Amino acid sequence: MKKHNFSAGPAVLPAPVLKEASKAALNYHGIGLSLLELSHRGPEFTAIIEEANALMKEIIGLPDDYHVLWLTGGASTQFFMAPFNLLNEDETAAYVNTGVWADKAIKEAKAFGNVSVIASSKEQNYTFIPKGYKIPKDAKYLHLTSNNTIYGTQQHRFPKSPVPIVCDMSSDFLSRPFDPTPFGLIYAGAQKNLGPAGTTVVIVREDMLGTVKRHLPSMLDYRTFIKENSLYNTPPVFPIYVSMLTLRWIKKNGGLKGMQRKNKTKAAILYNEIDRNPLFKGTVATEDRSLMNICFVMEEKYAALEKEFLKETEANGMVGLKGHRSVGGFRASAYNALPKKSVEALVALMQDFAKRKG
Ligand SMILES: *Cc1c(COP(=O)(O)O)cnc(C)c1O
Repeated sequence: MKKHNFSAGPAVLPAPVLKEASKAALNYHGIGLSLLELSHRGPEFTAIIEEANALMKEIIGLPDDYHVLWLTGGASTQFFMAPFNLLNEDETAAYVNTGVWADKAIKEAKAFGNVSVIASSKEQNYTFIPKGYKIPKDAKYLHLTSNNTIYGTQQHRFPKSPVPIVCDMSSDFLSRPFDPTPFGLIYAGAQKNLGPAGTTVVIVREDMLGTVKRHLPSMLDYRTFIKENSLYNTPPVFPIYVSMLTLRWIKKNGGLKGMQRKNKTKAAILYNEIDRNPLFKGTVATEDRSLMNICFVMEEKYAALEKEFLKETEANGMVGLKGHRSVGGFRASAYNALPKKSVEALVALMQDFAKRKG
């Protein structure tokens, strides 16, 4: 039986996507070859990447001056590739520090220009999303992390910015509708909410590029991938294929509105139980709670029971619930593909556990 997969990433994928992908791994559309064996320049893969790009544009509603790129190196490569392509040494970029990933992005950007950290919740262990800060008009861009995977906070509203926003959307990419036009560049590692590890989606607006003076090696220049339709070198063929299948699944299931509706329902079920159950409590500011990564701990009085509860989740076919070491307790990642019944199973166990131990 399939387990309830609450892992933060690589994470749960839609069942029909896995089924289709496993068929393609053996014999792609009955042609007598595995997709893993096919040339990335052949007609089969050309059709796949074109469909992936078209679906991405349609699902988000991207205007024509945005390009969809399929890169490698993870979101972590974008921490330096973005400033490398966008920021001159004498220019300043504004960053908001909302978690360990944002902190890493800040550290990497410092190598390429001036970095101004205009807001941070680091001193409070990233338990909230800073708001009401001033965004300097002369900044080259504003860097945000839309969802903080480790701490379980999410940017539910993006600030009105006088400069283009560069956003790490790795862990809530395509989980809700959003207006793309304030964003100059969006990046997301596929393995949280889109597909398998191995590809990173970058969405970049035309006017963001071509302003830096430094030499950009071909493989680190976004324009190379725009010009070559992500096929300058051999791309991660299979992760792109599986991501395309997930995009089809998103479209079929009501697009981003459909995703948001389901995500809200799932998160509400779990947060209600966390707030109601006397054994558990949330870890972050209520208004900033993430719909994707739901973090909770046991009330001090019951803290000794954390290990036992975790063991019971595993005994009941649930995996990936151990909280990140910097938060402790539990983290239930409830990405697009996590079925509602997985959340219901977890809630039932929390209730049963409280009856026995409370
Ligand atoms: C997982 C994650 C990353 C790191 O992604 P890699 O693809 O492993 O480099 C960066 N940012 C956020 C928000 C993440 O969740």
